[in-house]
Amino acid sequence: MISIIKAQEIVKYLSDYFQIEEPKVKFGKSNSKRCWYYPLSNEISLGRNHANNDCVLHEFTHGLVKKQGGNPITHGDMFAIQLFKVVDYFYKGKPNKYGWRWDYPNIFKFYKSLNNKEK
Ligand SMILES: [Zn+2]
Repeated sequence: MISIIKAQEIVKYLSDYFQIEEPKVKFGKSNSKRCWYYPLSNEISLGRNHANNDCVLHEFTHGLVKKQGGNPITHGDMFAIQLFKVVDYFYKGKPNKYGWRWDYPNIFKFYKSLNNKEK
């Protein structure tokens, strides 16, 4: 679990580096709800049972894609590429610290394809 303060710190850290308007961060009202990004209000909602660093990185990436003119709610290649940049920066060049296998299957596949190219 992550505190709202810690989540805000991460979002500020990433927003400064990637130069986007800092998304607001809040906990969702329902315990069962997963983490979510609201493009219109530029808001990250964290599910109380799901909130961790990786969840914040994933949702932040939706804001980054939006700023770059991409579709802010899909998880295609553009999202995967930007997520990799966010993860690489946050984990200081150690992107394997991110829980890729827990993300969407195509994102995990994208990450695996990167690793294969490096070898
Ligand atoms: Zn997402």
